[in-house]
Amino acid sequence: GLDWMSGDHSPPPSAELRPEIPHPARMYDYYLGGKDNFPADRAAAEQVISLSPLVRISARANRAFLQRAVRVLAERGVRQFLDIGTGIPSAGNTHEIAQAVDPAARVAYLDNDPIVLVHGRALLAGARPGSVSVLQADLREPKAILADPAVRELLDLEQPVALQLFAILHFIDEADDPYAIVRTLVDALPSGSYLALSHGTADFMPPQDVDKGPDAYRNATAQLSLRSREQVLRFFDGLELLEPGLVTAPLWRPDQEPLDTDAQVAIWAGVGRKP
Ligand code: SAH
Repeated sequence: GLDWMSGDHSPPPSAELRPEIPHPARMYDYYLGGKDNFPADRAAAEQVISLSPLVRISARANRAFLQRAVRVLAERGVRQFLDIGTGIPSAGNTHEIAQAVDPAARVAYLDNDPIVLVHGRALLAGARPGSVSVLQADLREPKAILADPAVRELLDLEQPVALQLFAILHFIDEADDPYAIVRTLVDALPSGSYLALSHGTADFMPPQDVDKGPDAYRNATAQLSLRSREQVLRFFDGLELLEPGLVTAPLWRPDQEPLDTDAQVAIWAGVGRKP
C-alpha cells in the first residue's frame, strides 16, 4: 500500500482520476448530495436515480447505518477499525464516530480509488495524530492488505478489529470470489472481532428492472454485482449476527421511527461477531 498521508507525497497524477469515466466513489458522493463529482459521474448516477427514487434514500440510509454500526461497535469496546472502501469523506466518517466514544480509537481507511486519497487530508481533520491512516489498497488483494506495513503499524491484529465493508462488496464480482476475500480477512482477526457490512440488492426490483442498476455502472471503473439477501447472509458464515440480523439499512437499530418504505431500501445491512 501507498500511504499518501504519512509522507510528503503529492496527490497522484490527475490522469488517474479520469474525470470522463464514472467512478463509483464519485457517483455515491452525488447520491449523498456531495460536490466531489464530475459530469460523467452525475450522468451515470442520474441513470441509476431514474430507476428508483429510493437510490438517494438508500445512499443516505447506508451512511446512517455505517454511523450507527460504528457507534455500537465502539460502545462494545472495539478500538480498531479497518474501513475498506472508505469513499469520499462525508459527514460522520468512521473515525469521527469512533473517536467520539473513545479518542484512542484507531482507523485504517483503505480504498483503491485515487480520488479518495486526494481527499485523505479531509479524512484526517480532527483526528488525533497517528490515529488514522488513509491507504491505497484493493479489496481483491486481502493478503496484501493484511501484510501492509502501514496497516500493521496502526492496527494490532492480535486485538479485536471491526472490519468494515460498507457498500463495497457489490463492486466485487463472482469471478473475484468475494466470499473467499471476506473469509481471508475474517480468519486473520481474533475472536471478539466484528464484520460490519452493507450490500446493494435488487431484491425489491421488479424482474424486468433487475439489470438496469448494473447497466448504469457498465462504463464505470467498477461493475455492480447486486446480491440477494441469502447471498449477502453467506458473508456472515461462522459469525454471530447481532440483533436485529440482516435487515434493510434503515431497520438496523434505527434512531427514529421507521417509515413504511424503509423495508424496501435496496441495501442489506448487518453486523456479525467472530466467536
Ligand atoms: N464505505 C463508504 C463508501 C461506499 S462507496 C460508505 O458506505 O459510505 C464504495 C467505495 O468502495 C468507493 O470509494 C470505491 O472507490 C471503493 N471500492 C470499490 N471497489 C474497491 C476495491 N476493489 N478495493 C478498494 N476499494 C474499492
